[in-house]
This record gives sequence, C-alpha cells and structure tokens, in this order.
Amino acid sequence: MSKLTLAEEALRRRTFAIIAHPDAGKTTLTEHILLSGGAIRAAGAVRARGENRRTRSDWMKIEKERGISVSASVMTFEHDGKMFNLLDTPGHEDFSEDTYRTLTAADCAIMVLDAAKGIEPQTLKLFEVCRLRDIPIITFINKLDREAQDPMTLLDDIASRLQLDPAPIWWPAESGNRLRGMVELGTGRFQPYARKVPGAAEDAGHPDALPLADAGQYFEAGEQQALTEALELVEGGYPAFDRQSFLEGHLTPVLWGSALRHFGIDQLLAAIGDWAPAPKSLPALRVEGRGSRGEKASGGGKEDLSTLDPRPSTLVDPASPEVTGFVFKVQANMDPNHRDRIAMFRMASGSFRRGMKLKVQNTGKSLSVNAPIMFFASDRELAEDAYAGDVIGIPNHGVLRVGDSLSESGLIRFAGLPNFAPEILQRVRVKDPLKAKHLKKALDGLAEEGVTQLFRPEIGADFIVGAVGQLQFEVMADRLGEEYGLEVIFEPSPYAEARWIMPVEGGDKADVEDFMSKYRGQMARDLDQAPVFLAKSSWETGYVMERFPKVAFTKTRERG
Ligand code: GDP
Repeated sequence: MSKLTLAEEALRRRTFAIIAHPDAGKTTLTEHILLSGGAIRAAGAVRARGENRRTRSDWMKIEKERGISVSASVMTFEHDGKMFNLLDTPGHEDFSEDTYRTLTAADCAIMVLDAAKGIEPQTLKLFEVCRLRDIPIITFINKLDREAQDPMTLLDDIASRLQLDPAPIWWPAESGNRLRGMVELGTGRFQPYARKVPGAAEDAGHPDALPLADAGQYFEAGEQQALTEALELVEGGYPAFDRQSFLEGHLTPVLWGSALRHFGIDQLLAAIGDWAPAPKSLPALRVEGRGSRGEKASGGGKEDLSTLDPRPSTLVDPASPEVTGFVFKVQANMDPNHRDRIAMFRMASGSFRRGMKLKVQNTGKSLSVNAPIMFFASDRELAEDAYAGDVIGIPNHGVLRVGDSLSESGLIRFAGLPNFAPEILQRVRVKDPLKAKHLKKALDGLAEEGVTQLFRPEIGADFIVGAVGQLQFEVMADRLGEEYGLEVIFEPSPYAEARWIMPVEGGDKADVEDFMSKYRGQMARDLDQAPVFLAKSSWETGYVMERFPKVAFTKTRERG
C-alpha cells in the first residue's frame, strides 16, 4: 500500500492522450516518450508489442494490412516521481468516435503537428473535441529534421485557426539539413541537435544544453547572431507561458522536435510532468434508484421516457475515499480463445484495491474486481492498487459497457460519453439463415463495445447497423467472421440518418409519443432501448424537425 495520501497519489498522476492527423508522427512520438520515460529500452518496442497482439488476435489483420491502428489502449509508466498514463488513440478518421471517447478519459492532450504541414483536417476535428471538454493542450511540432514551415507561420496558424494563444517554450534554430538545435526562451539555453551520421550504427544522442552565447561551435557564420536577434522579436511577440491560462484552454505551450531523432522528447515529457493537470474534480450526479437498461420496452415500445430522479449534481474530488469512475472503452476478444472483454475504467476518485466490489450505477449490478489489469508499457500486469487518473482494465463477460459509471456505492453517475449519430446506415444479413439467431448476439456484442451501433426497427426483423465511417463495417464483417463464425452481407438500407428523439426542454412526452405513432414505420430502438428516428434523407430530418417543434431530434445521445 502506498505511503502517500490519496491527495498526493492523485496529484502525481498525469493522464494524457496524443492527438494528431494521420502521419504526423503520433506512433513514433509515443514510442519516444516511453523511451524518455524509461518504460522501454529501445525504439521499435511499441510496434513489436503491436505485432504480438496481432498474432493473438486475428481481426487486427486489418490494422496490419492497412497500416492503421484501430484499437486504443493505455500505457502506464512511472518517471521522475510521477505516474503517467498515456492513452493511445486511433488516428484514422473512421475511428474518430473511439477517439472522442478516449479523450473523455484524458486530462490533457498533446497536439502533434507536422512542421511541414501545420494544422491538418483531423487536427482540427480532434482539437474541437478537446475544446468541448476543456482539455488543456500542449503542442509538439514534429519533424524538425525535415524542411519545415517558418515557425512564426506555424504559430500564427495556431492563433488564428484554433483561437489559441501559442506560447513558444523553445525556438527552433532552422530545420531540415540546417537544423542546429533549439533555444529555450527566457533562459537562453541552447539544446544542440546532433545530425545522424550516415552509416553510424547507433545514435549517440544529442549534446548537452549550454548557454546560446557559448554555442558557437554548433553554428555556421552569422547564424548565431541572426538567431539571437530573432529571439528578441519572438520574446516580445508571443505571450509567455501562463499555467492558469493553459489550464483554462486559452493558451498552448509550444515545443519542437523530431520524434524520429529523439530530439525535444525529454523536454516534452518534462513539460507534461510539470504543467499537465493532475486529475481534477469531475461533475457527476448522485442518483438514487436505478436505470432501466436492458429491460425491454413492452407493448410496442411504450416506455417511460422520463429519466431518473437525480439528486443535485456533485463534484467528485479525486482525493475522496470512495472509488468512482467510468468506462470509456471496451476491448473485446483480444484473445480469440477466451471471449474476454476488458472494460477500460478511468478512475475519478478513491483508492482501488484488487478484489474490491464495485457497482454499476446504471444497472445496479455489482462485480468483484479480482483480476484488474494495469497496462504497463512493457506488459500487462495485475493492478494491486490504483488512484484517481489511473486506467485499469476490468475483465468481464459483457456486464460492463462504454459509458457505465462504477463506484463502491453504485450511486455516482458521470455524464459526457456520447453516442454519435452514425453517418452510414446499412442492413445486415447473415448468409446462412440457420445462423440468424446468432447474429443478434454477435451484433449486440459489437455494439456494446461501441464498434458500431445497432438499431432494431419497431416493425420487421431487420438489423440496421450504423457507423461513422465505412471502415467500421469492414472491421465488423471481419470480426463477425473470425470471432463468431458468421458470414454476413451488408446491404444498403433505405435510411440516411438516425436521430434520437426526446421532448424538447419543457416539452411533453406525449408529443414524442404522437410523433412515434405517426412515424412507427421509421422508428427503431438503440441498444439501450432509446427511441431513434430513421430518416430517409437529411431533407426528411429537416422536415420532421419543422413539423414537430416540440420533439428534439438529436445527433448525440449521452448514455447513463
Ligand atoms: P502516425 O500516423 O501519426 O502514428 O505517424 P507515425 O508515427 O507512424 O509516422 C508517420 C511517418 O512519419 C513514419 O514514416 C515516421 O517514420 C515518420 N516520422 C515520424 N516522426 C518523424 C520525425 O520526427 N522526422 C521524420 N523525418 N520523420 C518522422
């Protein structure tokens, strides 16, 4: 057991994610952060770990074939007295939903930009999610070893397109072949860059930092003087780092480097350790009573649409003794021989001990967590204890779902894990009609994991599957085959959009019921039995919204 108090344990946690447009260098940076943190000994280990996983799990063939990563995981390491939890997010845009959910579990994000490309479309999208969730952002401008855009252009882009004040912590001395190193603003410390010597077997690392005035040996004629002059402009032209402003999401410290050449990585890790927030108090509801998940709507779906009777919202302090938290991801069938599911549980408070009993707020079910897993960068290990900010994997057989809140009392409910309206809706059939029965179970399983969404129309026996991107269907077909032995066919469905429906604020559920009775043929239920309207076109969505002003048609639904 820890000698530190609960508050001290929470304070030394840094739970963060890396966001980047594909190819900006997220995987490489992850690896080099782990290297800097002493969690791995050689670069290549992250990929190697991936290879192991792939041999264990066939569906990840897709990852391999396409060179993309479809499953987010977490890597924990201890460095410099702090515990770092790095949440890995998939980069491909079809999996952005998964990424969004993972970001709900992060307290800070590292935004990686390619120095030649600056802000790219996916950077923007991910940034928006961080802003929505008030997640502070540290910027890392990568690939300085290649020809880069002018640093001021890159910073101005951050200011104008993200409405975020860039506070450069270091300033690069050129890029590509002329990259000499970088200077720390304020202190004038110069960190030289050692170019890779062609043919050298191993990198010797980069020379130690020294005062810029003493660093003449690293420059060619005139360069040092020009840099010193440029720094005056830079120091006057950009805001100095202000932690409060950073935590409030107004300012981003900007660091530079080359992930591939392990340049600027120690500095980045130090910045995360020093500045990224420890877990903060999270808003939650203290709920008496229970949800109705899993209880089938009877009589053709006439279900009480009113929600629970929540007590006034509370703030859960990370140092409060009760273990609380939420599931932000479920990873299933990592090992096809055991139908295991691992729920990724982000702790919000308390001191977790192995063997502890936790209750699921939504269902009231309780489970003993006897074999929790901590994802240490090197390997999986059994977690003996864990604190606010930590992520533990809880093996279970479908009891835990994305968005579930767990606590000792079973009364705490965290909000904010949305389902997103899918952008593609398809009908799914199984080739062998004798296996139709198995299909539902398999589809339920994948939907519970959040791979795809499942809608059961009120009329008929169809399964409508929704996804944010086409690739999700491919992953799904692959997994249905490999894990459930089901060969399926996807067919176009008549639907273009799905919208959850509920009364508008101050509205009446009778209005919703009226709408549902008029559009019975286009009504469906999601996995939680919540009513969903399947529209044939976006025009139709607009039309019903206008005609039924007392019904809200929403693109997201928060589970709970
Ligand atoms: P991800 O898609 O964001 O995970 O990007 P990766 O880490 O897979 O990197 C994409 C490509 O950029 C790979 O070929 C990397 O070797 C390369 N790369 C990553 N970081 C750097 C860097 O600092 N310098 C250079 N020159 N290449 C890099």
